[in-house]
Amino acid sequence: MTTFIAAGSNLNDRVQYLLFAIRVLQEKNYCITGVSPLYETPAALLYETAQDDWNKPYLNCVIQIETDKNAFDLLNDLKQIEHDLGRNNTARWAPRPIDLDIIEHNLEQIDTPKLTVPHKLCMKRSFVLDPLSFFKKISPEFLYSNTHQPMVMGILNITPDSFSDGGENNHFDAFEKKVDLWEKAFIPLIDIGAESSRPDAVPIPSEEEIKRLSKIFDYMKHKEKKIFSPRFSIDTYHVQTAIKALEAGFDALNDIHGLDDPDMLALAKEHKDKRFIFMHHDDITRQSLKNTVADIEHWVEEKINLFEKNNLPLNHMTFDPGIGFGKTACQSLMILQQIDRFHRFGLRLLIGHSRKSFMKIFTPKEPRQKDVETLGLSVKMAQKVDILRVHTPVEHKEALLAAAHLENQFF
Ligand code: ATP
Ligand code: CA
Ligand code: CA
Repeated sequence: MTTFIAAGSNLNDRVQYLLFAIRVLQEKNYCITGVSPLYETPAALLYETAQDDWNKPYLNCVIQIETDKNAFDLLNDLKQIEHDLGRNNTARWAPRPIDLDIIEHNLEQIDTPKLTVPHKLCMKRSFVLDPLSFFKKISPEFLYSNTHQPMVMGILNITPDSFSDGGENNHFDAFEKKVDLWEKAFIPLIDIGAESSRPDAVPIPSEEEIKRLSKIFDYMKHKEKKIFSPRFSIDTYHVQTAIKALEAGFDALNDIHGLDDPDMLALAKEHKDKRFIFMHHDDITRQSLKNTVADIEHWVEEKINLFEKNNLPLNHMTFDPGIGFGKTACQSLMILQQIDRFHRFGLRLLIGHSRKSFMKIFTPKEPRQKDVETLGLSVKMAQKVDILRVHTPVEHKEALLAAAHLENQFF
């Protein structure tokens, strides 16, 4: 019986409280089958009772469990954990070390004074729906509300010629330091690439790519995977590199060739537990502006048909419209303007606009200096996509959390 629990903490060491709750659930013989990445969100407050210092951001996640226990026994166990973690402030929505709510339990409908399942407010709460969407499809009308928050994906290039952070992470020490830094800032996703995809970059064969990544593969094999460690994707279109990366423990593949290669598709079939990002990359520069998005929509439809034919779990497939790949600057901008047209597909949606050249429409700056412009676009796009792939994830997380306070709910 699959159950989803929403967990939140906004007091002291929030991660430790969440980890403690997960550990105790395991000790109580609940089988934890998944924990979503962390989402940091402003506290919702009851304005009649809230004190000034209660407005502390939450860390939220959703825990997926398998259990034979009924929902009432589960609720008692959750209350016991809340109690053991020192939850004692009786004022409603006061800062708390932990809050554990049953969101769904075996698709049951329960409506009693003690327990309502599915949780009565879950469809209105982005801090529940966003992490829940990691496991199951959430209808876009609920998911992309004005409190929706995307996940931030940090770009970590280890290429000598990469267009925007070229060379900086060539040294393994620098790589490790950056991963640690991003992990401490709760960056949920890290995308590692060894081949530059800038328009004039020289393509490299997979042997060279694998050579550049060999230390990273070793690192990944030995890295202690903690529950809230970032999830790593490998940015490659070479099957041989992808195979090695998934073997080494990468969680996802980011393919700028859109899983066109039948061998890549076969790899996705083999690894149904992993996640796959497929990017639109056809050259549509001759296509009229008017037809740009429709053309890409058509491409996505065909991909979905292919994935369904191959029994790939669609919730594990993320679509990237490929800003700057085979598109004019105006087309790239237009895709961002009309991004919600892709919501109907129900796929996770990623955009990679960071430091891209289409911004020449409004700034003459070099790629590395476009971070302010990137962030400006990100804040506007945040409520419409699931993943923002960016070079400055820490700054992004801070900016998005600040902006989220404008939507803070005082009931
Ligand atoms: P909210 O319920 O709006 O999220 P809260 O979590 O702060 O607010 P609590 O004080 O933790 O509220 O819980 C109040 C009561 O809600 C609990 O004692 C519990 O009996 C009841 N309850 C009803 N349905 C659920 C559910 N699905 N999960 C957890 N508790 C529930
Ligand atoms: Ca709650
Ligand atoms: Ca609760």
